[in-house]
Amino acid sequence: MPDKLSANMLYNYVKCPHRLTLDLFGDYSKRDPISAFVKLLWEKGTDFEKQVIKSLEIPFLDLSFYSGIEKEKRTKEAIDSGVELIYSGRIGTVNLIGEPDLLRRSDDGYISGDIKSGSGLEGENDLSEGKPKPHYAVQLALYTDILERLDVSAGRYPFIWDIHGREIEYDLNSPQSTRNPESWWIKYTNCLEEVSKIADHDLKTLPAYSGVCKLCHWRTYCFKCLRKANDLTLIPELGRKTRNVMSSYLGSVAELAQANLNQFQKGKKTIFPRVGRDTLHKFQERAILLSKRGSKPYLKSQITLPDAPTELFFDIETDPMRDICYLHGFLERRNGDNSSERYVAFFSDQPDEQEEKRAFSQAWEFIQKSMPCVIYYYSSYEKTQWKKLQKKYPEVMSGEDIKRMFDADYAVDLYYNVVKKKTEWPTNDYSIKTLASYLGFRWRDESPSGAESIEWYHRWVETGDVNIKTRILKYNEDDCIATRVLLEGIYSLALLK
Ligand code: SF4
Repeated sequence: MPDKLSANMLYNYVKCPHRLTLDLFGDYSKRDPISAFVKLLWEKGTDFEKQVIKSLEIPFLDLSFYSGIEKEKRTKEAIDSGVELIYSGRIGTVNLIGEPDLLRRSDDGYISGDIKSGSGLEGENDLSEGKPKPHYAVQLALYTDILERLDVSAGRYPFIWDIHGREIEYDLNSPQSTRNPESWWIKYTNCLEEVSKIADHDLKTLPAYSGVCKLCHWRTYCFKCLRKANDLTLIPELGRKTRNVMSSYLGSVAELAQANLNQFQKGKKTIFPRVGRDTLHKFQERAILLSKRGSKPYLKSQITLPDAPTELFFDIETDPMRDICYLHGFLERRNGDNSSERYVAFFSDQPDEQEEKRAFSQAWEFIQKSMPCVIYYYSSYEKTQWKKLQKKYPEVMSGEDIKRMFDADYAVDLYYNVVKKKTEWPTNDYSIKTLASYLGFRWRDESPSGAESIEWYHRWVETGDVNIKTRILKYNEDDCIATRVLLEGIYSLALLK
């Protein structure tokens, strides 16, 4: 058992409480190897921090050469003597320990800050300014808590220096969102209590199937446990919180499939918080699909898709670490004839704005020449990224062009408008990988994943190795083909009806 609670433990807890349990007490021989993408994230994080520190034009005390008790002692001395800015210090109390990237003198005390190689906010888009990231907030709150306990805190407003060169203040006394009035500080204290219980073996956690698992080194082990328990989170869109409130009544997918739901219903509501009657019935339908051998996917309501002689199955690849869209891939099909298919790609050979703009501009030209056509894509990502590119390069296309391109008469988000709303599948999630694989499609790459392809792009930029570029293009082409396979699969459901 660790003798002190750290920021890293809080970070892991917020991502997945079970991850914290397994990292503390799990059998490390059961872990998956760390993926190349995760290693890249670590490297880029360290490189970015070094770069930021190197470019600082203000004096600071660098304690990065020290570790452990020596680092803590020197940090205390620096605080006591009022050093303006401390880089890579270490602060602690009897049961808490933190290593903030920065400690900055402010008024009569210090505030802490971290340097992050990603955006300091989440959910930034046309409609929202974004909000603090919970996993960043709890880490910053832990540093602030330690400063308060040491009686050297200047206030609860730590900060993040992010990839965009911004300083983002995290006001820990402010509500988490308009819908959640609880402050970030309360969230932190609740998390700290739970982390403490997990570390003391006073709180048992369970795995939960979710998107976070994709990059986790316990995924193979957890998936085995989830399968063995026939856990409710194996039902698409039924997450950890819902599982936790349902589990004392319904312990598995099979139990939900067989349950008489009347006992849980109260008018349009159910006894389960945040689960309405219709949602409960939807989960039961899914549980039945997963439980019955030979279950087939089906349509819940009629679908009408736009019609045009040319179809474009569209998929992009981006590098979030460089904030660049480096590939626009299209599978073009004419008159519904698969033998007419060809793959067309627009690739940025360099991760710079000039190349990004060229690829974007050529992709837009290609779409215009293909009109009239229907564009199929999977999830809102392509639309969000193209809107972002349009704002960055308004000379390439106008806001009106974007609206027209993604008009429902010409473009279909197969995930949001069709799969999610109108179909049911006997699978554990609705990712394109899962559904196309269910329909028999196989990617040519042995480890196809969007995250891994980012790592390939980094290696392509560093080495110029054409084999890596070919691998990226093949992977993107397969994603485009998978979208076409899924469309055909959906059409076959319509015919079966
Ligand atoms: S695989 Fe998923 S459930 Fe298991 S520890 Fe990791 S994130 Fe948690």
